[in-house]
Amino acid sequence: MRLRTTRGIVEADRAVACAGLHSDRLARLAGAPAAPRIVPFRGDYYLLRPGRSDLVRGLIYPVPDPRFPFLGIHFTRRIDGAVWLGPNAVLALAREGYRRTDLDPRDLFETLAFRGFQTLAAKYWRTGADEMVRDLRKSSFLASLRAYVPELTETDLLPGPSGVRAQAVGAHGEMLDDFAFDTVGRLLNVRNAPSPAATSSFALARVFADRLDALD
Ligand SMILES: Cc1cc2nc3c(=O)[nH]c(=O)nc-3n(C[C@H](O)[C@H](O)[C@H](O)COP(=O)(O)OP(=O)(O)OC[C@H]3O[C@@H](n4cnc5c(N)ncnc54)[C@H](O)[C@@H]3O)c2cc1C
Repeated sequence: MRLRTTRGIVEADRAVACAGLHSDRLARLAGAPAAPRIVPFRGDYYLLRPGRSDLVRGLIYPVPDPRFPFLGIHFTRRIDGAVWLGPNAVLALAREGYRRTDLDPRDLFETLAFRGFQTLAAKYWRTGADEMVRDLRKSSFLASLRAYVPELTETDLLPGPSGVRAQAVGAHGEMLDDFAFDTVGRLLNVRNAPSPAATSSFALARVFADRLDALD
């Protein structure tokens, strides 16, 4: 295999393409089918004011909604004692759109023109609208948090970091919640590696290595 990169050509016997938010683009470039495609969803966190961290002494998770692969707003007490609250899930206007105002016309056009996204949006517009309200109104975010910790007040919430979830969406608008692989020759495309892919990265590496071994 010859991989053309910004640092020159790399020759390899086999390769794994695992490009997160750009994984569908790399797969397409290699000749794989267009779907599933990546639709980026931004997730924002608030930080719990440090003096109030005694309110959350462990991890607090909602019961998952099986229709959505998003976990939902939860409470994460980290090893340094900081508590993260969130994330929500709103359509990102850019694949690398970590701020509300980030917009990439090509990314946005690709998302809106994708039939799978149109089907998804038509089906779940109500949930999407609720998420957007929660994104814009701190009081709505707080209301979701108070379902678990009623003592929380608006002043307990400080601005926190954001992440962008690479959500793989199929041609008929289905949100993939499992790993998605395809191969082109001796290239293994990892199109969807959802959470907890980071936590499970060593186990996943073994799966990839086995799949590479099986390629002719
Ligand atoms: C807010 C948030 C919280 C999460 N929390 C957890 C958690 O607690 N536990 C957990 O296990 N998982 C969590 N996840 C999920 C986890 O981050 C992903 O499952 C995991 O990162 C997927 O790994 P990946 O290698 O497929 O993609 P990534 O980690 O995104 O890696 C892709 C890499 O490819 C590179 N790349 C992209 N395009 C190209 C290109 N054209 N050429 C070369 N390189 C390229 C990128 O720079 C990047 O380094 C979370 C995700 C989000 C968004």
